[in-house]
Amino acid sequence: MKRFHHLESHVCGDNERNNGPAVVVVGSCFLDYIAYVDRIPHIGETLKSRSFQKGFGGKGANQAVAAGRLGARVAMVSVVGSDGDGADYIENFKKNGVDTTCVFRKQGEASGLAMIFVESASSNNEIVICPNATKAMTVDFLRKSSDNYNRFLPKSCRFLICQNEIPLETTLDVLREAHTRGIYTVFNAAPAPSPSDVEVIKPYLQYVSLFSPNEVEATLITGIKVVDGASAASAAKALQRLGVRDVVITLGAQGYVIAEQGSEAIHVPGIRVKAVDTTGAGDSFVGSMVYFMSIGKTLKEACKLANVCASMSVQKKGTQSSYPSLAELPAEAR
Ligand code: ADP
Repeated sequence: MKRFHHLESHVCGDNERNNGPAVVVVGSCFLDYIAYVDRIPHIGETLKSRSFQKGFGGKGANQAVAAGRLGARVAMVSVVGSDGDGADYIENFKKNGVDTTCVFRKQGEASGLAMIFVESASSNNEIVICPNATKAMTVDFLRKSSDNYNRFLPKSCRFLICQNEIPLETTLDVLREAHTRGIYTVFNAAPAPSPSDVEVIKPYLQYVSLFSPNEVEATLITGIKVVDGASAASAAKALQRLGVRDVVITLGAQGYVIAEQGSEAIHVPGIRVKAVDTTGAGDSFVGSMVYFMSIGKTLKEACKLANVCASMSVQKKGTQSSYPSLAELPAEAR
């Protein structure tokens, strides 16, 4: 593939090379371009913003950074553009302890981004996602540039995390391959898949070790309206009947429901905090949950600790910038 090149300059450090990543995230890197406006413009209208902010986002990248900041041996697999945003994103991963050996750059393409208008008074927003370089993450490209996934699913890899922000067939192909290799596969099907995508996903749920949606995604996939612990427990059981092993459904301020294979579903309430910005809370939960599993915690213990991390993230503004480091966790969570 001539239009792509592998970033040899971003190989991991000696320590990581020897041990290899335990956690691999295959997903999106998007820059967030956020314009704060007095009101959302009408069609044909031009407005000036009050202020502007650029942030690092994309669900895959958020989850990798959430894990990396806690100290996980984590690697990201993605495609960014050949622009400054792509270079900035790679730098951002490095600062957060994320291995970028398999973050590829597409020549002549812009990095993926989200254009976001936020109405200052109401916080209402409008978002347009431009996948740009991430569209290049096809099965063909990833297989060819990674020796049929050998480069990012090495023996050291025990956990794979995927979301729903890159081409779906790639996500499903990687999930199946990782499962075949005995890797514990985590699928956070966010953002919510379309009804036709749900049908495409269903036959692949047998390759998913842990399915981790929020209320909206769980509702869409099972047809059960998830609004509280009891309805989430029913949805979790329905997902297990579709072939998933373990299920964790996050419920915002209401916490989460966990259903491990062969056990009853349990509802664990949220931690009471004053939330100021819940953007990326789900990604904080997923990334930190997998970090804790990667250091030997059980799924149940890992979820309890992820609940602490996600509740800390909602108390700060920003997405990745609100995720806690290990040193910031309360002593009993370290
Ligand atoms: P998503 O961001 O995918 O919609 P959720 O809203 O379900 O995800 O939130 C994920 C997790 O973040 C919750 O399970 C909980 O641990 C934490 N969380 C979210 N909102 C709050 C809140 N208001 N108070 C405390 N914890 C929260």
